[in-house]
Amino acid sequence: MHGCSVAHALLRYTDSNQRGIRIIDPHREPLDAWNRRVEQCGMRFLRSPGAHSIEPDFTSLVSWARREGWDLARHTVDPYARPSVPLFRAHASSRIDESGLRRCWVRTRATSILRRRGRWTILLADGRLLDGRNVILAVGQSDRLRMPRWCIRAPRDTVSHIFDPDFSLERARVARAPVVVGAGTSAVHLALRLAERPRGRRGALPFTPVRLISRTPLRVYQFDSDPCYIGPACMTDYLALRKPEERRAILETARQPGSIPPDLAHELESAVGEGTIEWIDDTIVDAREAPGSAVDLLGSDPRPRIYRSDLVVCATGFVRTPPAEALLQSIMDSSPGVWPTDQLGYPIPDSSLQWGQGLYLTGALAEQELGPSAPNIIGAQNAAKRIVAHLNGAPREIPTAWRRYASASVSSSSDCC
Ligand SMILES: Cc1cc2nc3c(=O)[nH]c(=O)nc-3n(C[C@H](O)[C@H](O)[C@H](O)COP(=O)(O)OP(=O)(O)OC[C@H]3O[C@@H](n4cnc5c(N)ncnc54)[C@H](O)[C@@H]3O)c2cc1C
Repeated sequence: MHGCSVAHALLRYTDSNQRGIRIIDPHREPLDAWNRRVEQCGMRFLRSPGAHSIEPDFTSLVSWARREGWDLARHTVDPYARPSVPLFRAHASSRIDESGLRRCWVRTRATSILRRRGRWTILLADGRLLDGRNVILAVGQSDRLRMPRWCIRAPRDTVSHIFDPDFSLERARVARAPVVVGAGTSAVHLALRLAERPRGRRGALPFTPVRLISRTPLRVYQFDSDPCYIGPACMTDYLALRKPEERRAILETARQPGSIPPDLAHELESAVGEGTIEWIDDTIVDAREAPGSAVDLLGSDPRPRIYRSDLVVCATGFVRTPPAEALLQSIMDSSPGVWPTDQLGYPIPDSSLQWGQGLYLTGALAEQELGPSAPNIIGAQNAAKRIVAHLNGAPREIPTAWRRYASASVSSSSDCC
């Protein structure tokens, strides 16, 4: 999402063309990682407003949808005209086609990045080298799946993680007694999709409602990060903070990971009322093999309960570490100097999002400078504005909403690089 959004902005608002930009990613095509995760949890509508898309223009998605004849009553939901997944995807795909971004695609992984003679050399997993004046790191969150400790004692094939590349919602729909562990948006979307599964073939286990097990109560918030930090209203004070630990404290409090928006909470409530989902407030402490290729999960609270299941899906997120640590390390090793990081190891880029000369960051990697919304879709737009403004020397002819927040000088960060 971030790599494509920034590349799209470079093609649109700078003199760069498709010959001058390379997008390195092991996936088949743009937005594959996003599409796969959204499919795996069965999400139908985005959590973010229709104003947030792969385009910086806040009206782009809705006006494109109107022009293309999409039924907005069916493909957006209140509040904030949040788009359906098919609409968001179709709009992104059309913008990507229009900018010719696919021609920049290099399908492999970057294994290390080195500073050589004032340029950046990228070593690719297929053995090739790429050389560039500017590099933008848009590597997403840490891709290490967070699995509860008891999973190692469960028999193979009975437990998986919702974002494991091998997890398939379609295959999960044949489970007779599925358990979803977690209480965030991905857990609730998945439980709702599994609740619609057909009763299907007979099996060793009785057909049960989907059991959604969480050790924390449901937390309901419209957004997963405080929208005040998208623009100057809160970002001015955030950027006035000089100490990385003060910014880190805001990053912790202005985000609501593992929360769900109110409409999803209502859907869940209805499914619980209809008996297709059982909401269980419990902490799983152990797992052991059960007859019929099943697993018994042992709960702990308030009296020990056993949940027998033929499929347990952990929607427990990702391990919280700075993403792409090996790439960051290769950069630091190849060019000794000052590479500022915060107490958790996240880089501290300057106001133009450079961590080193010509080395720009976006997404979670740039959260010290971009603030709480850094990993979101709008974080990619805010990053693109700063990077493009810096590369251009001054912002070019751009939409109003962009211009308001385009100036890199809005930041008071010290120049670290
Ligand atoms: C199910 C789900 C729903 C979400 N819904 C919303 C929403 O409605 N609104 C919103 O604002 N946000 C949402 N988010 C959060 C956020 O927008 C997404 O996670 C988004 O995909 C983040 O974009 P990204 O580019 O930072 O990361 P990713 O989409 O994960 O992309 C990172 C890319 O970097 C590649 N990469 C990593 N390391 C290397 C390497 N060494 N070499 C080459 N390539 C590499 C990966 O293969 C991947 O393709 C959602 C997240 C999830 C998981």
